[in-house]
Amino acid sequence: TTPLLQVRNLQTGFKIDRKFYNAVEDVSFNVDRKQIVGIVGESGCGKSVMSLSIMQLLPNGIGKIRGGEIDFEGLNISELSDKKMNKIRGKEISMIFQEPMTSLNPVFTIGYQIEEVILNHESISKKEARLRSIALLKSVGIPRADKIVNEYPHQLSGGMRQRVMIAMAIACQPKLLIADEPTTALDVTVQAQILELLKDIQETNDMSIILITHDLGVVAEICDEVIVMYAGKIVEKATVDELFNNPKHPYTDLLMKAIPKMDEDVEKLATIDGLVPSIINMPQIGCRFANRCPKAMPECLTVTPQLGEVEPQHEAACLLYDESWPAGEERQREGV
Ligand code: SF4
Ligand code: MG
Repeated sequence: TTPLLQVRNLQTGFKIDRKFYNAVEDVSFNVDRKQIVGIVGESGCGKSVMSLSIMQLLPNGIGKIRGGEIDFEGLNISELSDKKMNKIRGKEISMIFQEPMTSLNPVFTIGYQIEEVILNHESISKKEARLRSIALLKSVGIPRADKIVNEYPHQLSGGMRQRVMIAMAIACQPKLLIADEPTTALDVTVQAQILELLKDIQETNDMSIILITHDLGVVAEICDEVIVMYAGKIVEKATVDELFNNPKHPYTDLLMKAIPKMDEDVEKLATIDGLVPSIINMPQIGCRFANRCPKAMPECLTVTPQLGEVEPQHEAACLLYDESWPAGEERQREGV
């Protein structure tokens, strides 16, 4: 059967001073039905640009899909008109963001906003929509839903607002939910509850989820597959178990070390030294991680690593494992 979502050789550019630079380059992956796929990397790695590309929500005239395809249930949605995409957005594919306050409208009640989503896609009465929104609020664990439905976003806590956003996102039972840093603004306990909720609604609604995060710890909680992105490219891709038991890419190693520990002060979260190269001065040749990689070799500056299988169903883009490169195997033994 065809995967629910197939992203093939996606290339998304941003216009800066009249020139396009790629923020996502040659990215390919699938999301199967009922699967949770995590996309991990620091900010500036292209994760959000990728989700905006899938949703066709790139900033007009600035962000642009410049190559590749995005097939949703076999239909290439990267070429759809706004009108057709509006039918899919919110209904077939929906999205939640990091800060619910920016996506919820402060002047409308919670109920009004959920019902607006429903009425936008379905022809039912306002009364039915009201009942549906109360049921939705209950299903995402909001107590006293029949009261909360008449409240305004600022009357709720951050965690409750994120639950409301999830209720809105699943209002029309989408097949795919894209969650971009859904727990980043929340404290640790609430974060765990929201992840659990996402897992629950994935199961009850037979949905697929793309979970975008900078935190590999979040991925470990609920994902089936993980994609690690660096500087606009996929650098590693595997099942969660495989990735955690057998990480290959040096960037993944560093992300593992940066997983926040429960007993650590958030202020001194481990960070990785150095910065992701900006899209306007991306190295054109060699490995984009070379200037920060603890295992970099001179060749890393002149040979561009390709994503390839390093174990069954496990891919990485690193010269330590690149078999097309004659010295690869030997280096693998010495290097790691
Ligand atoms: Fe490090 Fe070289 Fe592998 Fe890049 S290709 S991750 S610089 S070892
Ligand atoms: Mg982002």
